[in-house]
Amino acid sequence: MAETLTGTVPLLFPGTHNELRQGEAFEPVATGNQPFTRRFYIESYGCAMNFADSEVVASILNGEGFGATRNVEEADLIFINTCSIREKAELTVRKRLTEFRSLKKKNKALLVGVLGCMAERLKAKFLEEEKLVDIVVGPDAYRSLPALVGEADLGQKGVNVLLSREETYADITPVRLNSNGVNAFVSIMRGCNNMCSFCVVPFTRGRERSREAASIVAECRDLFDNGYREVTLLGQNVDSYYYASDAAPTVTFANLLESVAMISPSLRVRFSTSHPKDITDDVLHTMARHENICRYIHLPVQSGSSRVLQLMNRTYTREWYKAKVDRIREIMPDCGISSDIISGFCTETEADHADTLEIMEYAHFDYSYMYFYSERPGTLAQRRYTDDVPLEVKKRRLAEIVQVQNRLSLANNQYDLNQVSRVLIEGESKKSEDDWMGRNSQNKVVVFPKGARSLVKGDYADVLVHSCSQGTLLGNIVADNSAAAALNKGN
Ligand code: SF4
Repeated sequence: MAETLTGTVPLLFPGTHNELRQGEAFEPVATGNQPFTRRFYIESYGCAMNFADSEVVASILNGEGFGATRNVEEADLIFINTCSIREKAELTVRKRLTEFRSLKKKNKALLVGVLGCMAERLKAKFLEEEKLVDIVVGPDAYRSLPALVGEADLGQKGVNVLLSREETYADITPVRLNSNGVNAFVSIMRGCNNMCSFCVVPFTRGRERSREAASIVAECRDLFDNGYREVTLLGQNVDSYYYASDAAPTVTFANLLESVAMISPSLRVRFSTSHPKDITDDVLHTMARHENICRYIHLPVQSGSSRVLQLMNRTYTREWYKAKVDRIREIMPDCGISSDIISGFCTETEADHADTLEIMEYAHFDYSYMYFYSERPGTLAQRRYTDDVPLEVKKRRLAEIVQVQNRLSLANNQYDLNQVSRVLIEGESKKSEDDWMGRNSQNKVVVFPKGARSLVKGDYADVLVHSCSQGTLLGNIVADNSAAAALNKGN
């Protein structure tokens, strides 16, 4: 798909979980008093969906007597949950697999498994070419992991890359291993029925399917009861969420959003990702009705040129996108909007690029994930079009896009000066233990002194913003913090 200028991996959800640390391993965990017989180590790459999947994998393995470790040296099983969205992510995974070779030499019983999108995409190649891989499991086959580990223990290769039309892991409670105890991802659907021509996801994650609504609400309620104060409903295209059964009325994404929001006013709700063609007025009005549904929408535009959007098979025009931005602002004037933008897609001209810069100005994005196009094998674009924009042109256009975005981000933050932001505290500031760090409803990072108030992580505070940078708002808690404090008591 696309390559970033900065080298960060594209995430499905920017902002709150923006600091998904690529490749970070899980914290050690114990479930009840169960003595674990073996230890697994897992690294995750790519989007928020992948990180959420790793929590499902951890749950499945825990249930079979495997405990997680953060120390790769003491692991009996090493898993890499992989991303195929761009070439660089795949290269990183291959490098990691090579590094594990020395561990396998030291410990003959050590098993190495590849999970996720790369497993789906490269399947047999891993087993034939990469002698260091024992297990290959696609995103819909994690339930078979314990059995596959058993096969690999016997010296066979454990492989399951079957895609499913039903699997949603609805009944599996994810193990929140690397959590801050405040924010959690909740997967509401899997796969994607869109066929954006640059994207590998429809081939690696299969057809779209929605998870049972009741299990989603139950998971969110359980998180709230356990002290979490923000859930992010995740899917490749959340607005096409649709759950129908004989037993209960049909549930749309707007219905689901409302049900989760009604768990408690103290629980913040976010969601990602929205496709511009699918987000409805119903969803926007539901957001507007509930203060605890965050005023923030990630609405990837990808390109500002209608001609390029057609080649990308995005099924909307620049006019449609602008009208959607207008509608969001009409219903929620204070709503933040972020985007994904690709420079240098096949046949992109300077005029197309100028359209992209123009639409950025129009939408005044708070934030964007910006990439230059790199062709991914098997995609429609690879089969139909020529990747004909020279690399230096792609990079130059991307630099221009980044420059515009930096200016817009700073200007958007300046709007918040002398305004009060309600902040959910996520932890201490990285720079000072005397400061809290959290986010406001629009997903902007806010840092403020702890002062004398006895707030804790997961509490709300009303903060008057006095200064800002491109990425952060700085402020102080207002003298009368009683409205935010009422939420902290769960009122
Ligand atoms: S909506 Fe398009 S870009 Fe997003 S996952 Fe589906 S095919 Fe890929």
